Amino acid sequence: MITYGHFIGGARTEGTSGRFADAWEPMTGALRSKVALASRAEVRAAVENAAAAQPGWAAVNPQRRARVLMRFLELVAREMDSLAELLAREHGKTITDAAGDIQRGLEVIEFCIGAPHLLKGEYTVGAGPATDVYSLRQPLGVVAGITPFNFPAMIPLWKAGPALACGNAFVLKPSERDPGVPMRLAELFLEAGLPPGVFNVVNGDKEAVDALLDDPDVKAIGFVGSTPIAEYIYTRGCAAGKRVQCFGGAKNHMIVMPDADLDQTVDALIGAGYGSAGERCMAISVAVPVGEQTADRLMEKLIPRVETLKIGPSTDPAADYGPLVTRAHLDKVRSYIDVGLAEGAKLVVDGRGFTMQGYENGFYLGGCLFDRVTADMRIYKEEIFGPVLSVVRAHDYEEALRLPNEHEYGNGVAIFTRDGDAARDFAARVNVGMVGVNVPIPVPIAYYTFGGWKRSGFGDLNQHGPDAFRFYTKTKTVTSRWPSGVKEGAEFAIPLMR
Ligand code: NAD
Repeated sequence: MITYGHFIGGARTEGTSGRFADAWEPMTGALRSKVALASRAEVRAAVENAAAAQPGWAAVNPQRRARVLMRFLELVAREMDSLAELLAREHGKTITDAAGDIQRGLEVIEFCIGAPHLLKGEYTVGAGPATDVYSLRQPLGVVAGITPFNFPAMIPLWKAGPALACGNAFVLKPSERDPGVPMRLAELFLEAGLPPGVFNVVNGDKEAVDALLDDPDVKAIGFVGSTPIAEYIYTRGCAAGKRVQCFGGAKNHMIVMPDADLDQTVDALIGAGYGSAGERCMAISVAVPVGEQTADRLMEKLIPRVETLKIGPSTDPAADYGPLVTRAHLDKVRSYIDVGLAEGAKLVVDGRGFTMQGYENGFYLGGCLFDRVTADMRIYKEEIFGPVLSVVRAHDYEEALRLPNEHEYGNGVAIFTRDGDAARDFAARVNVGMVGVNVPIPVPIAYYTFGGWKRSGFGDLNQHGPDAFRFYTKTKTVTSRWPSGVKEGAEFAIPLMR
């Protein structure tokens, strides 16, 4: 049994609150670790450590800060196999998928190595007589990240990379369900040369989160998780005068046009719908074939693929996907199957009978596929976050486009077609933040930005890419004048650049 405490001031510390959460190994269903839940005092200790370390880190020149990140990349690459296995054992996703989780995080660190360039300000020489104007970007101070269970490496790195590159100190509150990888990343940051106290991890639940929200020394909060919590953190954090960005839940549609290559479409759909057991905020959870004929042809190809999905323990290299994260989450996903049946959707593949031989206590669910789902059903409106795909049949393109446009979530969406005109029209008119054209999971590469619309995102800047450098810095603008000759005397009208 592993016991996780915190990582404060450059060292692992034991939890002192006396409160712990259980964390499981989803593939076996065994209790794997006890995770300390930080008290307000422990959160305060982390923030104080961060606040003490931050000015020194901000004074390190940007190029040297970037070198720490370069070294960090090397250290994580060296440990990729063991980190991926740790992640898979705590989360449940396959080891290959876990390595991808880490890799997508590292790609943002690679982007952050360009910080010296990204932090450059603006300069106007001679904006007025003897007057120059310039702007510079300064770090905010101590910033915090609150992250979900489903990408325990990628999302902490999306937040910490830019924050640290900009000269901030960081307090991470990872998910209490899989904190092992974030704790190890903290040690690797230290080994890479990050001064103690610049990157801290506090494990915890609502008490720790509220302590971060209330702490006046925490200047910004970046959150990723479910929409109700995203909204809570956004509202409370903003009310406390902090800079806040919160990314929430999703219901991502894939529109399948009549001219789409259906073999390619089905390959894309099966991976995007069921990979990682559907526990991805960019998973496709709704397929929208356009026209009855397209729908029938799609179902003919899709059903046998869902029926033959290979579900296995996280350590099985041949598994398409592994178990869900906890028994409680498995039960919640299963309960949505009952909801769908009661609402009148047609369950054409029922994965509820699946058991994994030799791993009977693991949190497994076979692939489930609903046909004839309609927009008024709860299984359409709500995020299920499991290996459950809903098919909503649309009569024509306009009806298909209306579905993602009118859905409360607006994270990702895809269109599969061979018609460039339809694809262009869709990309222009769809009311969703990230769009794929023949790409099922359009997570933007690190040097673009990631963010959903509507109730999938709260705040005005996206994650990673140039937006992250804006989020983690404040702009200072300096107007300077060096008059020559004698003093000209006072001016009482507002200064104009003559
Ligand atoms: P969650 O909202 O349960 O937890 C996220 C974080 O909030 C965790 O650190 C958790 O400890 C904390 N938290 C939970 N309850 C809280 C409360 N009452 N008060 C304060 N803090 C609380 O989310 P999860 O189950 O870990 O992750 C899955 C969700 O995250 C899904 O909805 C998924 O779509 C979403 N997600 C979104 C994105 C995105 O970029 N939009 C990416 C990944 C995951």
